[in-house]
Amino acid sequence: MKQGLVFNVQKYSVHDGPGIRTTVFLKGCPLRCKWCHNPEGLSSEPELVAFQSRCLGCGICVQVCPKGAIWLSSLNSGDSQSVPDALGGPHAPDNPDTPDTPDTPDAPDAPNVPGVQDAPHSLDAPDTSDAPDVPHAPDTPSVPGAQDTPDVPHSPHAQGAADVPDAQGVTRATANTDAPGTTKRVAVTDRGKCNVCGKCADLCPTQAREITGKLVTPDWVIEQVLKDRVFYEQSGGGVTFSGGEPLMQPEFLLELLKRCKAEGTHTAVDTSGYVPWESIEQVAPFTDLFLYDIKMMDPARHMEYTGVSNGLILDNLAGLSKIHNAIIARIPVIPGVNDDASNIESTGELLAQLGIMQASILPYHDIGSDKYGRLGKHYALGDTAKPSDEAMSSIKEILERFRLSVKIGG
Ligand code: SF4
Ligand code: SF4
Repeated sequence: MKQGLVFNVQKYSVHDGPGIRTTVFLKGCPLRCKWCHNPEGLSSEPELVAFQSRCLGCGICVQVCPKGAIWLSSLNSGDSQSVPDALGGPHAPDNPDTPDTPDTPDAPDAPNVPGVQDAPHSLDAPDTSDAPDVPHAPDTPSVPGAQDTPDVPHSPHAQGAADVPDAQGVTRATANTDAPGTTKRVAVTDRGKCNVCGKCADLCPTQAREITGKLVTPDWVIEQVLKDRVFYEQSGGGVTFSGGEPLMQPEFLLELLKRCKAEGTHTAVDTSGYVPWESIEQVAPFTDLFLYDIKMMDPARHMEYTGVSNGLILDNLAGLSKIHNAIIARIPVIPGVNDDASNIESTGELLAQLGIMQASILPYHDIGSDKYGRLGKHYALGDTAKPSDEAMSSIKEILERFRLSVKIGG
Protein backbone atom coordinates (compact mmCIF):
# COMPACT_ATOMS: atom_id res chain seq x y z
CA MET A 1 0.00 0.00 0.00
CA LYS A 2 1.36 3.40 -0.94
CA GLN A 3 2.42 5.53 1.98
CA GLY A 4 2.46 9.30 2.26
CA LEU A 5 4.42 11.83 4.28
CA VAL A 6 2.19 13.67 6.76
CA PHE A 7 3.31 16.29 9.27
CA ASN A 8 0.13 17.02 11.19
CA VAL A 9 -3.47 15.95 11.67
CA GLN A 10 -5.47 18.87 13.06
CA LYS A 11 -8.74 18.00 14.74
CA TYR A 12 -11.73 20.35 15.16
CA SER A 13 -10.56 22.71 12.45
CA VAL A 14 -13.09 25.42 11.58
CA HIS A 15 -11.01 27.47 9.13
CA ASP A 16 -10.43 25.03 6.28
CA GLY A 17 -13.89 24.61 4.82
CA PRO A 18 -17.45 24.28 6.12
CA GLY A 19 -18.33 22.86 9.53
CA ILE A 20 -16.04 21.04 11.90
CA ARG A 21 -13.23 19.35 10.02
CA THR A 22 -10.12 17.29 10.35
CA THR A 23 -7.26 18.85 8.41
CA VAL A 24 -4.53 16.49 7.24
CA PHE A 25 -1.27 18.23 6.36
CA LEU A 26 0.84 16.54 3.69
CA LYS A 27 4.52 17.39 3.63
CA GLY A 28 6.28 19.00 0.68
CA CYS A 29 5.57 22.20 -1.26
CA PRO A 30 6.94 23.59 -4.55
CA LEU A 31 6.52 27.21 -3.40
CA ARG A 32 8.61 29.17 -0.93
CA CYS A 33 6.23 31.92 0.14
CA LYS A 34 8.10 34.29 2.42
CA TRP A 35 5.14 34.51 4.80
CA CYS A 36 4.56 30.74 5.05
CA HIS A 37 3.38 29.84 8.55
CA ASN A 38 3.88 26.11 8.04
CA PRO A 39 7.60 25.92 7.24
CA GLU A 40 7.62 22.32 8.45
CA GLY A 41 5.50 21.55 5.39
CA LEU A 42 7.99 22.85 2.82
CA SER A 43 10.50 20.03 2.58
CA SER A 44 9.44 16.69 1.14
CA GLU A 45 11.64 14.92 3.68
CA PRO A 46 11.31 14.39 7.45
CA GLU A 47 13.05 17.14 9.44
CA LEU A 48 14.44 17.66 12.92
CA VAL A 49 12.57 20.20 15.05
CA ALA A 50 14.52 21.50 18.07
CA PHE A 51 12.76 23.33 20.91
CA GLN A 52 15.61 24.92 22.86
CA SER A 53 13.17 26.37 25.38
CA ARG A 54 12.43 22.80 26.52
CA CYS A 55 16.08 21.74 26.69
CA LEU A 56 17.48 20.73 30.07
CA GLY A 57 21.05 20.53 28.84
CA CYS A 58 21.22 16.92 30.02
CA GLY A 59 23.44 15.90 27.11
CA ILE A 60 21.72 12.62 26.29
CA CYS A 61 21.27 13.69 22.69
CA VAL A 62 24.98 14.50 22.45
CA GLN A 63 25.77 10.98 23.60
CA VAL A 64 23.44 9.15 21.25
CA CYS A 65 23.83 11.15 18.05
CA PRO A 66 25.62 8.84 15.59
CA LYS A 67 26.73 11.76 13.41
CA GLY A 68 28.34 13.93 16.11
CA ALA A 69 25.92 16.66 15.08
CA ILE A 70 24.97 17.96 18.56
CA TRP A 71 26.87 19.82 21.23
CA LEU A 72 25.95 21.88 24.26
CA SER A 73 26.36 25.62 24.18
CA SER A 74 25.98 28.29 26.85
CA LEU A 75 22.95 30.52 27.12
CA ASN A 76 23.06 33.25 29.76
CA SER A 77 20.00 34.18 31.77
CA GLY A 78 18.37 37.23 30.30
CA ASP A 79 19.31 36.29 26.75
CA SER A 80 16.28 36.95 24.63
CA GLN A 81 17.20 34.46 21.97
CA SER A 82 18.30 30.89 21.79
CA VAL A 83 21.61 29.66 20.49
CA PRO A 84 20.87 29.15 16.81
CA ASP A 85 21.56 25.91 15.07
CA ALA A 86 24.48 25.83 12.67
CA LEU A 87 23.49 25.19 9.09
CA GLY A 88 26.50 23.11 8.12
CA GLY A 89 29.12 24.00 5.57
CA PRO A 90 32.79 24.80 6.03
CA HIS A 91 32.23 27.17 8.97
CA ALA A 92 30.16 24.83 11.07
CA PRO A 93 31.87 23.77 14.29
CA ASP A 94 33.63 20.47 13.95
CA ASN A 95 32.76 18.52 17.05
CA PRO A 96 32.43 14.87 16.12
CA ASP A 97 34.17 13.53 19.17
CA THR A 98 33.22 16.00 21.92
CA PRO A 99 36.52 14.97 23.57
CA ASP A 100 35.97 16.64 26.93
CA THR A 101 32.57 15.14 27.50
CA PRO A 102 32.75 12.80 30.50
CA ASP A 103 30.99 9.49 30.71
CA THR A 104 27.38 9.80 31.74
CA PRO A 105 26.62 6.50 33.46
CA ASP A 106 22.93 7.16 33.91
CA ALA A 107 22.38 7.94 30.27
CA PRO A 108 22.16 4.61 28.46
CA ASP A 109 23.45 4.16 24.97
CA ALA A 110 20.67 4.09 22.45
CA PRO A 111 21.03 0.40 21.51
CA ASN A 112 20.54 -0.63 25.15
CA VAL A 113 17.22 1.10 25.68
CA PRO A 114 14.54 -1.54 25.19
CA GLY A 115 12.10 -0.71 22.50
CA VAL A 116 13.54 2.67 21.65
CA GLN A 117 15.97 1.79 18.91
CA ASP A 118 13.32 -0.26 17.18
CA ALA A 119 10.59 2.35 17.37
CA PRO A 120 9.83 3.20 13.74
CA HIS A 121 9.16 6.74 12.66
CA SER A 122 6.55 5.38 10.32
CA LEU A 123 3.10 5.54 11.88
CA ASP A 124 1.66 2.89 9.63
CA ALA A 125 -0.14 1.02 12.36
CA PRO A 126 -3.79 1.51 11.51
CA ASP A 127 -5.01 -1.09 13.95
CA THR A 128 -3.53 0.70 16.95
CA SER A 129 -6.44 2.22 18.78
CA ASP A 130 -4.15 4.50 20.75
CA ALA A 131 -2.48 5.92 17.69
CA PRO A 132 -1.84 9.61 18.39
CA ASP A 133 -3.95 12.21 16.67
CA VAL A 134 -0.90 14.22 15.75
CA PRO A 135 1.58 11.98 13.98
CA HIS A 136 4.66 14.08 14.71
CA ALA A 137 4.13 13.91 18.46
CA PRO A 138 4.93 10.33 19.39
CA ASP A 139 4.82 9.13 22.96
CA THR A 140 7.98 9.92 24.81
CA PRO A 141 9.86 6.71 25.46
CA SER A 142 10.83 5.90 29.00
CA VAL A 143 14.50 6.67 29.51
CA PRO A 144 15.81 4.99 32.66
CA GLY A 145 17.96 7.29 34.70
CA ALA A 146 17.58 10.23 32.38
CA GLN A 147 16.65 12.63 35.17
CA ASP A 148 19.79 11.68 37.07
CA THR A 149 22.14 12.33 34.22
CA PRO A 150 24.77 14.86 35.29
CA ASP A 151 25.40 17.93 33.23
CA VAL A 152 27.79 17.45 30.37
CA PRO A 153 30.33 20.23 29.90
CA HIS A 154 29.92 21.90 26.60
CA SER A 155 32.21 21.18 23.72
CA PRO A 156 35.37 23.29 23.58
CA HIS A 157 34.24 24.31 20.13
CA ALA A 158 31.02 25.77 21.47
CA GLN A 159 31.87 28.56 23.90
CA GLY A 160 28.65 30.51 23.80
CA ALA A 161 26.26 31.90 21.30
CA ALA A 162 28.79 34.23 19.76
CA ASP A 163 31.00 31.29 18.84
CA VAL A 164 28.41 29.52 16.73
CA PRO A 165 28.91 30.62 13.13
CA ASP A 166 26.52 30.54 10.19
CA ALA A 167 23.64 30.96 12.59
CA GLN A 168 20.31 32.24 11.41
CA GLY A 169 17.76 30.75 13.83
CA VAL A 170 15.48 33.10 15.71
CA THR A 171 13.71 30.90 18.25
CA ARG A 172 13.19 32.61 21.57
CA ALA A 173 14.17 30.57 24.59
CA THR A 174 13.12 31.66 28.04
CA ALA A 175 11.76 28.69 29.95
CA ASN A 176 15.12 27.44 31.19
CA THR A 177 16.99 30.72 31.45
CA ASP A 178 14.90 32.64 33.93
CA ALA A 179 17.04 32.30 37.03
CA PRO A 180 19.11 35.49 37.37
CA GLY A 181 22.86 35.18 37.15
CA THR A 182 22.83 31.65 35.79
CA THR A 183 24.15 30.14 32.63
CA LYS A 184 22.28 27.26 31.07
CA ARG A 185 23.48 24.89 28.45
CA VAL A 186 21.30 24.00 25.53
CA ALA A 187 21.69 21.53 22.71
CA VAL A 188 22.76 22.98 19.36
CA THR A 189 22.67 21.04 16.11
CA ASP A 190 24.91 21.12 13.06
CA ARG A 191 22.24 20.41 10.48
CA GLY A 192 24.87 19.81 7.84
CA LYS A 193 25.80 16.63 9.71
CA CYS A 194 22.34 15.56 10.87
CA ASN A 195 20.77 12.74 8.87
CA VAL A 196 17.43 12.99 10.71
CA CYS A 197 17.79 9.52 12.18
CA GLY A 198 15.57 10.53 15.11
CA LYS A 199 17.64 8.95 17.89
CA CYS A 200 17.93 12.22 19.80
CA ALA A 201 14.16 12.72 19.55
CA ASP A 202 13.50 9.19 20.80
CA LEU A 203 15.59 9.73 23.92
CA CYS A 204 15.16 13.39 24.83
CA PRO A 205 13.35 13.38 28.21
CA THR A 206 11.57 16.69 27.58
CA GLN A 207 10.55 16.30 23.94
CA ALA A 208 12.88 19.15 23.08
CA ARG A 209 13.53 17.30 19.84
CA GLU A 210 11.00 15.91 17.42
CA ILE A 211 10.99 14.60 13.90
CA THR A 212 8.33 16.24 11.78
CA GLY A 213 7.03 14.23 8.85
CA LYS A 214 5.97 10.62 9.25
CA LEU A 215 5.31 8.01 6.63
CA VAL A 216 1.76 6.79 7.12
CA THR A 217 -0.60 4.52 5.23
CA PRO A 218 -3.99 5.54 3.84
CA ASP A 219 -5.52 3.18 6.43
CA TRP A 220 -3.95 5.16 9.24
CA VAL A 221 -5.15 8.51 7.87
CA ILE A 222 -8.67 7.26 7.28
CA GLU A 223 -8.83 5.89 10.80
CA GLN A 224 -7.89 9.31 12.20
CA VAL A 225 -10.38 11.09 9.96
CA LEU A 226 -13.32 8.82 10.73
CA LYS A 227 -12.90 9.16 14.49
CA ASP A 228 -14.72 12.49 14.22
CA ARG A 229 -17.39 11.44 11.78
CA VAL A 230 -20.16 12.36 14.24
CA PHE A 231 -18.91 15.97 14.35
CA TYR A 232 -18.88 16.18 10.56
CA GLU A 233 -22.45 14.92 10.39
CA GLN A 234 -23.69 17.37 13.00
CA SER A 235 -21.85 20.41 11.62
CA GLY A 236 -21.74 19.81 7.87
CA GLY A 237 -18.00 19.35 8.10
CA GLY A 238 -15.56 16.80 6.77
CA VAL A 239 -11.91 16.41 5.94
CA THR A 240 -9.52 18.91 4.36
CA PHE A 241 -6.20 17.92 2.83
CA SER A 242 -3.68 20.72 3.10
CA GLY A 243 0.06 21.11 3.40
CA GLY A 244 2.55 21.93 2.17
CA GLU A 245 0.99 21.14 -1.16
CA PRO A 246 -1.13 17.98 -0.93
CA LEU A 247 -1.07 17.49 -4.69
CA MET A 248 2.69 16.92 -4.53
CA GLN A 249 1.72 13.42 -3.38
CA PRO A 250 -0.99 12.89 -6.02
CA GLU A 251 -1.47 9.13 -5.80
CA PHE A 252 -1.57 9.13 -2.01
CA LEU A 253 -4.03 12.03 -2.02
CA LEU A 254 -6.20 10.35 -4.64
CA GLU A 255 -6.41 7.21 -2.53
CA LEU A 256 -7.38 9.24 0.55
CA LEU A 257 -10.05 11.17 -1.31
CA LYS A 258 -11.58 8.04 -2.79
CA ARG A 259 -11.68 6.37 0.60
CA CYS A 260 -13.28 9.41 2.25
CA LYS A 261 -15.92 9.69 -0.45
CA ALA A 262 -16.68 5.98 -0.08
CA GLU A 263 -17.32 6.69 3.62
CA GLY A 264 -19.64 9.57 2.76
CA THR A 265 -17.27 12.21 4.15
CA HIS A 266 -17.15 15.69 2.63
CA THR A 267 -13.73 16.38 1.12
CA ALA A 268 -11.78 19.58 0.53
CA VAL A 269 -8.34 20.12 -1.01
CA ASP A 270 -6.33 23.23 -0.13
CA THR A 271 -3.91 23.79 -3.01
CA SER A 272 -1.44 26.32 -4.33
CA GLY A 273 -2.32 25.17 -7.84
CA TYR A 274 1.37 24.87 -8.74
CA VAL A 275 1.19 21.24 -9.82
CA PRO A 276 0.73 19.39 -13.12
CA TRP A 277 -2.80 19.78 -14.46
CA GLU A 278 -3.18 15.99 -14.54
CA SER A 279 -2.84 15.87 -10.76
CA ILE A 280 -5.73 18.29 -10.30
CA GLU A 281 -7.86 16.63 -12.95
CA GLN A 282 -7.61 13.18 -11.41
CA VAL A 283 -8.63 14.27 -7.90
CA ALA A 284 -11.41 16.64 -8.99
CA PRO A 285 -14.17 13.96 -9.15
CA PHE A 286 -13.48 13.01 -5.53
CA THR A 287 -13.12 16.55 -4.17
CA ASP A 288 -16.24 18.35 -2.98
CA LEU A 289 -14.51 21.69 -2.49
CA PHE A 290 -11.27 23.25 -3.67
CA LEU A 291 -9.62 25.94 -1.56
CA TYR A 292 -7.42 27.53 -4.21
CA ASP A 293 -4.71 29.97 -3.16
CA ILE A 294 -4.24 33.14 -5.22
CA LYS A 295 -1.27 35.16 -4.01
CA MET A 296 -0.83 37.92 -6.56
CA MET A 297 -1.37 38.63 -10.21
CA ASP A 298 1.98 40.10 -11.27
CA PRO A 299 4.25 37.23 -12.41
CA ALA A 300 7.50 38.96 -11.44
CA ARG A 301 6.31 39.81 -7.93
CA HIS A 302 4.90 36.32 -7.59
CA MET A 303 8.33 34.95 -8.45
CA GLU A 304 10.00 37.32 -6.00
CA TYR A 305 7.81 36.39 -3.04
CA THR A 306 6.98 32.73 -3.67
CA GLY A 307 9.91 31.46 -5.73
CA VAL A 308 7.76 30.57 -8.75
CA SER A 309 5.81 32.42 -11.42
CA ASN A 310 2.02 32.30 -11.41
CA GLY A 311 1.41 31.14 -15.00
CA LEU A 312 0.79 27.49 -14.16
CA ILE A 313 -1.33 28.43 -11.14
CA LEU A 314 -3.64 30.67 -13.16
CA ASP A 315 -3.83 28.21 -16.07
CA ASN A 316 -4.82 25.43 -13.69
CA LEU A 317 -7.41 27.65 -12.02
CA ALA A 318 -8.96 28.40 -15.41
CA GLY A 319 -9.00 24.70 -16.24
CA LEU A 320 -10.48 23.75 -12.90
CA SER A 321 -13.22 26.35 -13.20
CA LYS A 322 -14.44 24.53 -16.32
CA ILE A 323 -14.82 21.13 -14.66
CA HIS A 324 -15.67 21.99 -11.05
CA ASN A 325 -18.20 24.37 -9.55
CA ALA A 326 -17.11 24.47 -5.90
CA ILE A 327 -13.99 26.60 -5.66
CA ILE A 328 -13.20 29.16 -2.99
CA ALA A 329 -10.28 31.45 -3.80
CA ARG A 330 -8.05 32.02 -0.78
CA ILE A 331 -6.08 35.25 -0.84
CA PRO A 332 -3.48 35.87 1.86
CA VAL A 333 -3.23 39.59 2.52
CA ILE A 334 0.42 40.51 3.06
CA PRO A 335 0.96 44.24 3.71
CA GLY A 336 3.36 45.77 1.23
CA VAL A 337 3.39 42.62 -0.88
CA ASN A 338 -0.05 42.04 -2.41
CA ASP A 339 -2.49 44.34 -0.60
CA ASP A 340 -2.45 47.18 -3.14
CA ALA A 341 -5.75 48.06 -4.79
CA SER A 342 -4.41 47.28 -8.25
CA ASN A 343 -3.58 43.67 -7.35
CA ILE A 344 -6.87 43.16 -5.53
CA GLU A 345 -8.85 44.55 -8.46
CA SER A 346 -6.99 42.33 -10.93
CA THR A 347 -7.68 39.33 -8.74
CA GLY A 348 -11.38 40.14 -8.46
CA GLU A 349 -11.63 40.66 -12.20
CA LEU A 350 -10.04 37.29 -12.96
CA LEU A 351 -12.22 35.40 -10.48
CA ALA A 352 -15.37 36.97 -11.89
CA GLN A 353 -14.31 36.07 -15.43
CA LEU A 354 -13.83 32.45 -14.38
CA GLY A 355 -17.15 32.31 -12.56
CA ILE A 356 -15.50 31.78 -9.17
CA MET A 357 -17.76 33.75 -6.89
CA GLN A 358 -16.43 32.98 -3.41
CA ALA A 359 -13.24 34.26 -1.83
CA SER A 360 -11.64 34.21 1.60
CA ILE A 361 -9.14 36.92 2.43
CA LEU A 362 -6.66 35.81 5.05
CA PRO A 363 -4.89 38.53 7.06
CA TYR A 364 -1.15 38.07 7.46
CA HIS A 365 0.09 36.91 10.85
CA ASP A 366 3.47 35.85 12.12
CA ILE A 367 2.27 33.05 14.39
CA GLY A 368 4.45 30.53 12.58
CA SER A 369 7.63 32.62 12.68
CA ASP A 370 9.10 30.82 15.72
CA LYS A 371 8.92 27.54 13.84
CA TYR A 372 11.68 28.69 11.51
CA GLY A 373 14.33 28.80 14.20
CA ARG A 374 13.30 25.35 15.45
CA LEU A 375 13.92 24.04 11.94
CA GLY A 376 17.22 25.90 11.56
CA LYS A 377 15.66 28.25 9.00
CA HIS A 378 15.38 32.00 8.67
CA TYR A 379 12.05 33.87 8.65
CA ALA A 380 12.20 36.57 5.99
CA LEU A 381 9.20 38.74 6.90
CA GLY A 382 10.08 39.56 10.48
CA ASP A 383 9.19 43.26 10.25
CA THR A 384 5.87 42.91 8.48
CA ALA A 385 2.87 44.24 10.42
CA LYS A 386 -0.55 42.63 10.43
CA PRO A 387 -3.12 44.37 8.23
CA SER A 388 -5.61 46.53 10.10
CA ASP A 389 -9.30 45.71 10.26
CA GLU A 390 -9.92 48.77 8.10
CA ALA A 391 -7.49 47.53 5.45
CA MET A 392 -9.16 44.11 5.39
CA SER A 393 -12.59 45.71 5.07
CA SER A 394 -11.35 47.86 2.20
CA ILE A 395 -10.02 44.80 0.35
CA LYS A 396 -13.30 43.01 0.94
CA GLU A 397 -15.21 45.93 -0.55
CA ILE A 398 -13.02 45.98 -3.66
CA LEU A 399 -13.63 42.28 -4.30
CA GLU A 400 -17.36 42.63 -3.67
CA ARG A 401 -17.53 45.11 -6.54
CA PHE A 402 -16.95 42.06 -8.75
CA ARG A 403 -20.01 40.39 -7.17
CA LEU A 404 -17.88 38.01 -5.16
CA SER A 405 -19.04 36.68 -1.81
CA VAL A 406 -16.09 37.54 0.41
CA LYS A 407 -15.25 36.31 3.88
CA ILE A 408 -12.47 37.67 6.07
CA GLY A 409 -10.63 34.67 7.47
CA GLY A 410 -10.67 31.01 6.49
S1 SF4 B 1 17.67 18.38 23.68
FE1 SF4 B 1 16.80 16.92 25.16
S2 SF4 B 1 18.33 15.26 25.31
FE2 SF4 B 1 19.37 17.04 24.34
S3 SF4 B 1 20.32 18.16 26.04
FE3 SF4 B 1 18.30 19.09 25.72
S4 SF4 B 1 16.90 17.99 27.14
FE4 SF4 B 1 18.80 16.74 26.96
S1 SF4 C 1 18.31 13.28 14.25
FE1 SF4 C 1 20.22 14.32 13.64
S2 SF4 C 1 20.90 15.38 15.50
FE2 SF4 C 1 19.40 13.80 16.14
S3 SF4 C 1 20.61 11.96 16.62
FE3 SF4 C 1 20.01 11.78 14.46
S4 SF4 C 1 21.73 12.69 13.30
FE4 SF4 C 1 21.95 13.35 15.44
